[in-house]
Amino acid sequence: MAQKEEAAAAAAAASQNGEDLEDLDDPEKLKELIELPPFEIVTGERLPVNFFKFQFRNVEYSSGRNKTFLCYVVEAQGKGGQVQASRGYLEDEHAAAHAEEAFFNTILPACDPAVRYNVTWYVSSSPCAACADRIVRTLGKTKNLRLLILVGRLFMWEEPDVQAALRRLKEAGCRLRIMKPQDFEYVWQNFVEQEEGESKAFEPWEDIQENFLYYEEKLADILK
Ligand SMILES: [Zn+2]
Repeated sequence: MAQKEEAAAAAAAASQNGEDLEDLDDPEKLKELIELPPFEIVTGERLPVNFFKFQFRNVEYSSGRNKTFLCYVVEAQGKGGQVQASRGYLEDEHAAAHAEEAFFNTILPACDPAVRYNVTWYVSSSPCAACADRIVRTLGKTKNLRLLILVGRLFMWEEPDVQAALRRLKEAGCRLRIMKPQDFEYVWQNFVEQEEGESKAFEPWEDIQENFLYYEEKLADILK
């Protein structure tokens, strides 16, 4: 993060904590504020390359892919207009809950009514019916939260109860999209471990565009 952005983020953190902004002149204090983000975050950690390549691949039949990986970007805009962004990833194996539920339990357990939240998820597959309902409930009681979910694959999309849950998500204002090749590239660049000092170019798999179109058509049918 650029120095200026760090200072702005720290200022926002400071004002949220009711601390004196004058302290920002003190480099030590500034450093401390930068290290104390307003949310509990698992950032800094990136997905291992192999996890990304296997779990996010948008295959039509996702056998063996029974985990959910969720990469998130949370943008919180305070009254003063400052935007604080945080990012990280969750996977349900270590979260003891589905990744979607874990997000609301650990990453964004409470929303400050004075702050506007723009949340984007990049998830390996779409939510199950229970998670979709959890999202619907959260959006229903948190009007200052906007959620965009980009999914690599549709999970059990042939099941009527899953389809109904996806429609409830849409009705609740959640934007749901299938990840395009450039979205996978975005995840690769921002959430996947890179070799020391050099980032490797994203290598799209052979059927990435075809599979995207396949799922996009299914989703359009479900949501229409
Ligand atoms: Zn779930």
